[in-house]
Amino acid sequence: MKTLILESIQTSVEEIADKSASILKKGGIVIFPTETVYGIGADAFNTKAVDKVFEIKKRAKDNPLIFHVFSEKMIEEIGEINQIAKKIIKEFWPGPLTIVLKSKIDKKFTFGLDTIAVRMPENLIALKIIEKLGNPIVAPSANISGKPSSTDFEHVYHDFYGKVDCIINGGNTVYGIESTVIDVTEREAVLLRPGSLAIEEIEKLGIKVIITEAIELKKRSPGTRYRHYAPDIPVILFQNKKELLQILEENRGKKIGYMGLYNPLKTFEKTIVFKSLEEYGRMLFSTLRYFDAQKLDLIIAQLPEKKGLGRAISDRLLRASEAI
Ligand code: AMP
Ligand code: MG
Repeated sequence: MKTLILESIQTSVEEIADKSASILKKGGIVIFPTETVYGIGADAFNTKAVDKVFEIKKRAKDNPLIFHVFSEKMIEEIGEINQIAKKIIKEFWPGPLTIVLKSKIDKKFTFGLDTIAVRMPENLIALKIIEKLGNPIVAPSANISGKPSSTDFEHVYHDFYGKVDCIINGGNTVYGIESTVIDVTEREAVLLRPGSLAIEEIEKLGIKVIITEAIELKKRSPGTRYRHYAPDIPVILFQNKKELLQILEENRGKKIGYMGLYNPLKTFEKTIVFKSLEEYGRMLFSTLRYFDAQKLDLIIAQLPEKKGLGRAISDRLLRASEAI
């Protein structure tokens, strides 16, 4: 298949959105940047196109997709907005927070569920495409299922060139980690997937967010059942210096890629020390991909504390290392 590449530096948002929307209207697949990671998008109401997304990504059929919307009107057409949802939308949208609502649409569009996950991305190109299409766009992360998500054009080009109709080059994504997903169908909000928006921010609105353990989550949030974000080489995690030293002792002579906030003061094949949690989040997937390409034996990564953005980074690292 011939893949059209649209460069956001050379082409106006208007033209990118026009071309992309017309491809989507014909049932085509467009990869576009969002503020979190790149998404592989299809018209949410074209079931054939949506099936193609599952196929191209090799995604499990029982792992539902998020509907990306442009306006509040578009949400009202697909989901029931209750008081919590209203508050959250007002405060955080557009932005990296997905809410699960009771669905108003036919189950053939909601993967057989009576709920629907919705978000409004904070990216001009993404929003303009949805607006021009006039329908929500389902857009899971643009990576082969199980592998690290794509946070730069190079990643999507590598994974999908020749397999999709169009790829938009929007440079690096801002956050680098997927959206936070919370279920607001009941009276209390439940965290289904930690992400780029810290739950502490949601709690500042006076909304209690229930955090369930990984095992319980696996039943409620289909996507969290699968191995994810994993590079080809093994990932070993440490929390403190003692653990790091022990891992090094057990892996003498191996080619190691190191990443974390803590400066190890040792020489590795590759060493990446992040200045902040934000930088760790932004660079996490690209560093995993980079290490993969270096043909190392092992990745050693620091597991941050599970608070603020550290909760989402920990979650991704644990899944990448197969610890959960
Ligand atoms: P991705 O688009 O690859 O970042 O993954 C989307 C996430 O949203 C997965 O973890 C899905 O399980 C979750 N999701 C999508 N729709 C629903 C829904 N109706 N109920 C619960 N979780 C959902
Ligand atoms: Mg994904």
